[in-house]
Amino acid sequence: MKNTLNVHTPWRILVLAPTPKDAEFTFKILKNEGLSTLVCQNLQEVCDEIEQGAAAAILTEEVILSDKSGVLEKTLHAQPVWSDLPLIVLMPTGGGTPATIQQLQAIGNMTLLNRPLQISTLISTLNAALRDRKRQYYQRDYLIEREHYALALEENEKFTRSVINNALDAVIMLDEQGLIREWNTQAELLFRWERHEVLMQPMLPKMLTQKHFNLLNKSINDYLRSGGDHFILNKRVEFSALNKNGFVFPIELSLTAQSLKGEIFFIGFIRDITQRIAAEQQLIEARNAAETANIAKTEFLANMSHEIRTPMNAVVGLTYLLAQSKSLTEQQKKFIDTLQMSAETLLALINDLLDIAKIEARSVKLEQIPFSVTTLVEEVVSMMATRVKEKGLVFTVNDENLKACEYIGDPTRLRQILMNLCSNAIKFTEKGGVDLTIRCKPGADAQTDLICISVKDSGIGIAPEHIKTIFEKFVQADTSINRKYGGTGLGLTITKKLTSVMGGELIVHSELGKGSTFTVTLPFTIIQKKNNFIETEKGVEVAALIPSSPPEACILLVEDYEPNRLVAHTFLEKFGYLCEVANNGIEAVEKVKNGNYLAVLMDVQMQTMNGFEATRLIRANEKKYNKISSLPIIGMTAHALSGDKERCLEAGMDDYICKPFELEDLKKKIECIQMAQLRKKHDLSACI
Ligand code: ADP
Repeated sequence: MKNTLNVHTPWRILVLAPTPKDAEFTFKILKNEGLSTLVCQNLQEVCDEIEQGAAAAILTEEVILSDKSGVLEKTLHAQPVWSDLPLIVLMPTGGGTPATIQQLQAIGNMTLLNRPLQISTLISTLNAALRDRKRQYYQRDYLIEREHYALALEENEKFTRSVINNALDAVIMLDEQGLIREWNTQAELLFRWERHEVLMQPMLPKMLTQKHFNLLNKSINDYLRSGGDHFILNKRVEFSALNKNGFVFPIELSLTAQSLKGEIFFIGFIRDITQRIAAEQQLIEARNAAETANIAKTEFLANMSHEIRTPMNAVVGLTYLLAQSKSLTEQQKKFIDTLQMSAETLLALINDLLDIAKIEARSVKLEQIPFSVTTLVEEVVSMMATRVKEKGLVFTVNDENLKACEYIGDPTRLRQILMNLCSNAIKFTEKGGVDLTIRCKPGADAQTDLICISVKDSGIGIAPEHIKTIFEKFVQADTSINRKYGGTGLGLTITKKLTSVMGGELIVHSELGKGSTFTVTLPFTIIQKKNNFIETEKGVEVAALIPSSPPEACILLVEDYEPNRLVAHTFLEKFGYLCEVANNGIEAVEKVKNGNYLAVLMDVQMQTMNGFEATRLIRANEKKYNKISSLPIIGMTAHALSGDKERCLEAGMDDYICKPFELEDLKKKIECIQMAQLRKKHDLSACI
């Protein structure tokens, strides 16, 4: 019976009738109305069903409950709070006694229906009970959902807490009043205040030095006043913080503002940067020490260069003078040639070492003067001509694409780059030739051209594994190179570094046994072609004023190193000048006072009084005695570091020459001065 009368839905009505016949009758009625019904045999079965959560309403009769209502009451009370199971009890005709009614109503959500009863009343009461039960289920679902939500919230909070507490940074949260609302474990460690001591406390003034508290406070207030604009602390800032014991330490702080339920909270991430600052300090100290060492190295090199160049000047000069002798045997000539070559090699090495030192000390100062690439290339080609001829190579130049304009840049450094690449190409090529191609490409803007120089040779080439290292200092492709071709492994390092200082790039393509191509690309500023006509005219006119053999003009040579005195004296006599000698600066100043000289050739570094001081005194005397024109002074320096030229000019010299100097260089310098003087005289007489 239970099976046939049982319909499994969650909205079953439990029917407990006095007799099976009554039960069947009721079941049929309810079934006809489409209501799910479970007919129970006894009250215990009703209670079991209730406990399993199956019932939606109970329909029973008063007689069944009269003496057993306690069991049902107990079961109903054990139900969850949201459950208030509707009970519908059919009462005898005329209703029950007040005592019975009171007893029944005490059981729970009770509806008493008096007999005689219309079926429609029963059904509508049942439907109302079912609706009530449905509402209870909704409430249950809502409560369950709320419970889940609360649980999830709790878990989320636990998770957030654990993240915040395990963060490597101190995390704090402030409300708009500046009260602490969050304080993690790191904050406890950093500031030594425990969470419970700071929560809801205005801690900022105790956590920051006055100055930084004011700054932060202002930022927060500005932010609040501006309604959320201009928040300056989104980026990290460095502040000085205080801990509970008043100990000051550096922190890095980033603060963001978050709005939550209409309130604004400021969340700060704070990191102790004591160690970082110490490390930075160490780094700065190490860098300073390295820089000091580098400066010391550069100075040492400059001094060494002076020490080496001074006697080298005598070696080169005297070798030159010896080579001019007419009565030399073939063997003596050979000795002198070798002497000259060795001196040149030694000088090239000193120059390379100095260049490296300058580049590494970042003291390369690039000139910015007008120059012509075409002229520069011609110079380099003519300098290479002898070597090319000696080796029987073909040297071709392709510069058709070059514009006939001038550029602003450093021609000396460009010449050095070109010379390095061309002399390597010639050095490492036994047969075939070297192609030099210079092209001009448009640069980053209309005022800039990219000058692209390719030096291609058909020489020994470079193995792929050596290509990367050939630009390193003192590195040659392999050890046999040095034995066979000589060299130091500095040329390419200098070339590469100079190229990069000049804002360009150097690339190489090479194949072992087939040859190499080195390509350097450099940007230069274009200048409009100047009309040199007047200058040249003047130059020609003035040059014409210089007599082919100079007059018996006297040059004052100021030099304290005897061998160099000998060289310079002999050179000057060779040019046809008279020469007077001063052994130091003091003597020079005295001689200038009384003598009449075309120019002074002034050594810079001398005992007693150096060339700079002597020049300053000479210039001061000229002012004192209102001399119309100043005496030309050419400095001679064996230092080759940048700044020497500037120091000479600053002291009042007109020009400078670097030792060891070539005969021709010295001649040109003096002639230039002579020309300038003649031009001045010419201009003056023209004015008169
Ligand atoms: P050096 O020429 O004094 O040895 P460089 O720095 O100029 O020093 O060159 C470094 C090395 O690169 C050379 O020793 C040589 O092995 C290789 N190298 C440079 N240019 C060429 C070239 N044109 N052909 C073959 N090898 C070259």
